[in-house]
Amino acid sequence: MSFIEKLKQRTAAVGTSVKKNVVRRIASTEVISTRLEICNSCEHLFKPTNQCTQCGCFIEAKVRLKGSSCPIDKWSREVDEETKSN
Ligand code: SF4
Repeated sequence: MSFIEKLKQRTAAVGTSVKKNVVRRIASTEVISTRLEICNSCEHLFKPTNQCTQCGCFIEAKVRLKGSSCPIDKWSREVDEETKSN
């Protein structure tokens, strides 16, 4: 196997691993939708930039991360079986 072929193989493997890690960290559609509903009616949402004034996060990104949570406990992180065992 040539160096280039080995490099392609390794690059593909790393790409697959990165993709799996990113997908694993994304919350479910239901959770995202519930969080968005809560944030959109929250008094701490700064609508011009869609940022939370409590943590400074951009809501569109924040609600999508499984492990994120509201700084004043209006919603919490999504816990799945994999996370529970850690
Ligand atoms: S993360 Fe919490 S405090 Fe921030 S906008 Fe959403 S509900 Fe409000």
